[in-house]
Amino acid sequence: MLILCNWKLNGNKNMLESFFTKLNNLCNKFKIKNDISISPPTIYLSDSYNILSNIKSKISLSAQNVDINLKGAFTGETSAIMLKDFNVKYVIVGHSERRKNHYENDNIISKKFNIIKKNSLIPVLCVGEFLKESFCKSYMFIKKQIDTIFIKCGEKSFRNSIIAYEPIWAIGSGVSADPDYVNDIHFSIKNYICEIDNFFKKNNIIIQYGGSISKNNVYNFISKKHIDGILVGGASLEIKTLFPIIKIIDSFSK
Ligand code: PEP
Repeated sequence: MLILCNWKLNGNKNMLESFFTKLNNLCNKFKIKNDISISPPTIYLSDSYNILSNIKSKISLSAQNVDINLKGAFTGETSAIMLKDFNVKYVIVGHSERRKNHYENDNIISKKFNIIKKNSLIPVLCVGEFLKESFCKSYMFIKKQIDTIFIKCGEKSFRNSIIAYEPIWAIGSGVSADPDYVNDIHFSIKNYICEIDNFFKKNNIIIQYGGSISKNNVYNFISKKHIDGILVGGASLEIKTLFPIIKIIDSFSK
């Protein structure tokens, strides 16, 4: 199971060494089998990479964003090739905060999705509805987000890719979605992907849930058949809130 941690615009240079060393030691002690990936702000990827390499950690790095270009006159951007210099494995794309605060539309998101895949990185496509509404309305909204990827990037888009279902109203709100509802949404997305990409096996599609995950609710999500991982924001900023989540997932995966 993938445990992806999105630090957003948080963290600082001084905390990196102790955070990664402590997390790595704890994970080694418990022989954690799951894939843990930390997504610090881009400016800290280099230091994070050096620390993780020095301690020979299995914890991977992920990026919160990437540009649609690989090089050139694009001030302030970071390319997929640059991310690969620091062994980045996953790249979050289409997060609702980037859609809202940086006006990223489905067209830009699909270009980012494409460049991530073309450069052998793994996109984590975030999808999700704005408001708590009926299953049908939410699903139709998400389906549209998925369709843009199919249209722009082809019917095999979701091979070697991950989807993170993050109802926007659940992000950072302390109110998570109902796990059964999430499971049903994931099941419907998986069916839809297999309808478009006939030869892709449902079991190979990975859909994570994200939105106010904590140690108190994580089991209710990961114990569902179609919830294949989690994306954690706020609770990933401190070891004392993150590690209990990892431990619960790990004991479930035995
Ligand atoms: C997120 O921003 O992707 C997220 C899931 O945040 P939180 O866990 O804080 O709700």
